[in-house]
Amino acid sequence: MSIKITKECINCGACEPECPNNAIYEGNKKWKMSDGTSFLKRKEKESGSNLIVDHEHEPKEKDIYFIVSEKCTECVGFYDQPQCVLICPVGCCIPDKEHIETKQQLINKKNFLHHF
Ligand code: SF4
Ligand code: SF4
Repeated sequence: MSIKITKECINCGACEPECPNNAIYEGNKKWKMSDGTSFLKRKEKESGSNLIVDHEHEPKEKDIYFIVSEKCTECVGFYDQPQCVLICPVGCCIPDKEHIETKQQLINKKNFLHHF
């Protein structure tokens, strides 16, 4: 399952650079699937054209850091443990029970995000 950030976040920013999927964003920042991934290259190859869909999405939180569940793989494919959980000084990165996924689904998500 994805990890989520709770309201206890103190906006220290320590987690953001640790994420291998660029799934963590500062509050009020817009996000894209292609940020820090090879998503665009994958779409180019599959479509065979320049019709690339990579929308800019609205922030999921305004005042605290947030995790994009569509990009979080629980660090599967990169590390044995979720890096944001390890580094967060206040323990506010926790499992998101609304986005439960199997290990295989997380591997598939990682491959979807990082095709090359
Ligand atoms: S668990 Fe890993 S992939 Fe998910 S947000 Fe945290 S650092 Fe990023
Ligand atoms: S490491 Fe924890 S407290 Fe710091 S920005 Fe990330 S979630 Fe918030």
